[in-house]
Amino acid sequence: MINLLYKYFFLCLSMAFWDKHVETLPRDKLEELQAKRLRDTVARAKKSVFYGPRLKGVEPTVFKKPADIGSIPFTTKNDLRANYDYGLVCVPKDEIIRLHASSGTTGKATVIFHNRHDIDTWTELLARCIVMAGAGKGDVFQNMISYGLFTGGLGFHYGAERVGMLVIPSGIGNTKRQIQLMKDFHTTVYHATPSYALHVSEEMARDGFDPKEFDLRIGFVGAEPHSEQTRKRIEDIYDMDVYNSYGMSELNGPGVAFECEEKCGMHLWEDNYILEVIDPKTCEPLSPGEEGELVVTTINREAMPILRYRTGDLAKTLEGRCACGRTHVRISRIKGRCDDMMIIRGVNVYPSQIEDVLMSFPEVATTYQIHLLRDGSLDALIVKVELYPKMFDGDLAKLKKLEADIGKAISDEVVVKPRIEFLEPGTLPRAEGKAVRVVDKRCEM
Ligand code: ADP
Ligand code: ZN
Repeated sequence: MINLLYKYFFLCLSMAFWDKHVETLPRDKLEELQAKRLRDTVARAKKSVFYGPRLKGVEPTVFKKPADIGSIPFTTKNDLRANYDYGLVCVPKDEIIRLHASSGTTGKATVIFHNRHDIDTWTELLARCIVMAGAGKGDVFQNMISYGLFTGGLGFHYGAERVGMLVIPSGIGNTKRQIQLMKDFHTTVYHATPSYALHVSEEMARDGFDPKEFDLRIGFVGAEPHSEQTRKRIEDIYDMDVYNSYGMSELNGPGVAFECEEKCGMHLWEDNYILEVIDPKTCEPLSPGEEGELVVTTINREAMPILRYRTGDLAKTLEGRCACGRTHVRISRIKGRCDDMMIIRGVNVYPSQIEDVLMSFPEVATTYQIHLLRDGSLDALIVKVELYPKMFDGDLAKLKKLEADIGKAISDEVVVKPRIEFLEPGTLPRAEGKAVRVVDKRCEM
């Protein structure tokens, strides 16, 4: 009952804006603002060791509109690594107040610096995202993500405080304590990776709690690719709304793009970023709606602006205006990183495609892993899947049928026939940070 009252109370708060003027700025005004901020950013970037020579002879005044950005060279993760430590900084060192770093998922971590303006604008972006998803003052917010160098912790923390939520900076791990805090302080909103959100629900069930009994009403999940089916799974388990949160340390962290209550793509905040989508092989720009690599420029960052950053993430823009009234472009769910793509028997497969199939089977529990092996001269795709305990009741015919059904659904989706292995819940390793979904042993064989 209390749960229902809570949900009703907050329903009345929904469809809120944090900064309605900017969030609904007409497109022509938004583009004017982008062009102005781009000119300022280019002028500023020239002061850094890295961009100084690169932008030699480039006059900021040539950028009349955001589309003019195409004349600037791309910046890659390797550029950031090669110019470690202060190579991209363009303010005096004593103006810098914070250092963050990427998780280092694909190699050496990159570092990013912020001055006071940058921390403030980043905080504002998070506040926008939080309010856009219907959360705000009066909520108890549990930030179940790594604090420290990783941007997810402090980024959300500052944003949540700014909107006036009661923040529990619980960080990642110590799941029993997370559950205790959630129970004792009636957490209504949390932030986690999708894999950790599912892990917490398993731990709740093991401890005899029903995740639906808690006061949770909103979950922010991000930092790793996850499918629409996974969102639905988390929503069902907890009986709450789940919103996708996208960002990366190079572009501040979370708060780059976020879902509104329509749950129909993530709004990317174009007053702070210019988005392009390119073909990752040819680097040519793609038309709206075509899937490719996201390239993003920060246009409201002072200490360390980044121009035309090749994110390595694959997605597409969604056409049409969003029913929420915001004018900022929407992007699709992230399919994965360009280098997440597995080539199996010559076919391109993304882990998120397999995840989407698995999570549509209610018998499948919350964790899976994809193994790639060499079988003679051919690749073998093995999908290890944890099932709920009720599936291990000795009914082999039921398991055989499920194995065949999952196998067929995966090969219909990715055109490669997998071998399915069923496991009891809790068998596969759980990562506290980003989940490891693929184990590729083909080169070792
Ligand atoms: P690293 O690149 O070392 O993992 P970050 O911790 O900055 O460093 O993570 C950013 C990356 O995480 C993004 O480039 C993207 O690949 C992934 N990511 C972040 N949010 C999402 C999301 N909502 N959906 C899919 N992938 C995401
Ligand atoms: Zn919207």
